[in-house]
Amino acid sequence: MISRPRGTEDVLPEEVGKWYFIEEKARLLSWQYGYREIRTPIFEHTELFDRGVGDTTDIVEKEMYTFKDRSGRSLTLRPEGTAPVARAFLEHHLEAKGLPVKLFYLGPMFRYGRPQAGRLRQFHQFGVEAFGSPDPSLDAEVIDLAVAFLEAVGLKRFRLLLNSVGCPLCRGEHRERLLSYLIPLRERLCPTCRARLERNPLRIFDCKEESCQQVVASAPTITSSLCPECREHFHQVQGYLGLLGIDFVLEPRLVRGLDYYTRTAFELVVEEIGAQSAIGGGGRYDGLVELLGGKPIPGIGFALGLERVLLALEAQGGVPSRDLVLDVLVVQTSSLLKDKAVTLLKRLRAAGLKADRDYLDRSLKAQMKYANRYPARKVVILGEEEMSQGMAVVRDLASGVQETIPYDRIEEHILKAEEGDN
Ligand code: AMP
Repeated sequence: MISRPRGTEDVLPEEVGKWYFIEEKARLLSWQYGYREIRTPIFEHTELFDRGVGDTTDIVEKEMYTFKDRSGRSLTLRPEGTAPVARAFLEHHLEAKGLPVKLFYLGPMFRYGRPQAGRLRQFHQFGVEAFGSPDPSLDAEVIDLAVAFLEAVGLKRFRLLLNSVGCPLCRGEHRERLLSYLIPLRERLCPTCRARLERNPLRIFDCKEESCQQVVASAPTITSSLCPECREHFHQVQGYLGLLGIDFVLEPRLVRGLDYYTRTAFELVVEEIGAQSAIGGGGRYDGLVELLGGKPIPGIGFALGLERVLLALEAQGGVPSRDLVLDVLVVQTSSLLKDKAVTLLKRLRAAGLKADRDYLDRSLKAQMKYANRYPARKVVILGEEEMSQGMAVVRDLASGVQETIPYDRIEEHILKAEEGDN
């Protein structure tokens, strides 16, 4: 028997209602905030991620699903959404219709990591990207949307960590201070950080290794080196978050260790889900569009991991779900009535009802059991005696109330009864 690849999940019919629920909330809220959906390909040219994610990141160094297609091009299953969305923004000249351009996406991402609880090789993200404004109130809006989504799906306890990583200007100065602190401690860093030290010292803040975490615990933070403009921007972001009533914790060691990330950086964490406690993160990337060959257009966004959101909801008492409850199951008591059952089913569905029937010619008792297990709200029982008078029995499974209704008017009757219920 062939099983699914390691680090992937099947979403079974019983679980898919949870996905509908959270995806629907993501779509509705995004629209409310003025973000429109964009769907980019699942694979892209490898170069997009080398440049757009950065070749000193774990993602690019160790985690990409890269392959050659039949004509020898190097392609990569997308490990994240920002670079593809920025690529599409540029490729289709979306700025021409007027800035800002506010986009969201929902879909699978692929990273070759070591699978564990909350870490998969195929996982799903809900993300937004807003291009074209450096305004700190937009930073606050993006954070507000992430927080509003978590609240809308029912998450009760989570923390928002906030920082500013400055701009290339303030980072230049910080880099020198950081290097003079780190170089004497080089031997205490993990091999990867040692190798990347000169190229990207900020990245060490991102490293999960215990030894590196100890080293950065007393390292000079970027926040203490912010230039006056970046400091003011950060101050204003905090002011707008205050206006919006959003609580946050300042976390000077929170960075996104890449050059094109600027100013606001944030992360959303839920302690209850264990080691992989980050359910989402985001920030400004004022240098990305230019890096990909466009004009210097600023951007800001976030990405939330939906499997981790579901894990967090389960840890906090359960996930609301949109389940398929059948409106009506058509039950026939004799195979002679099969044609009547088939045509009635078609009528019920045409009337907009969720309807089904038994396809195994089971006994009446077995069909009733099937209706309960489905679960269905009502059954229509076609019996020879009633049908000889053009009638059928409609039974409500919850109340047990049973009525005899003309066969020709069953859908009408059920629709009326549903209206009464609502
Ligand atoms: P990142 O793009 O690394 O900032 O990730 C954003 C969010 O995506 C994280 O906070 C996680 O919730 C989720 N995520 C990232 N990598 C994985 C993974 N391998 N498995 C499941 N979720 C992930």
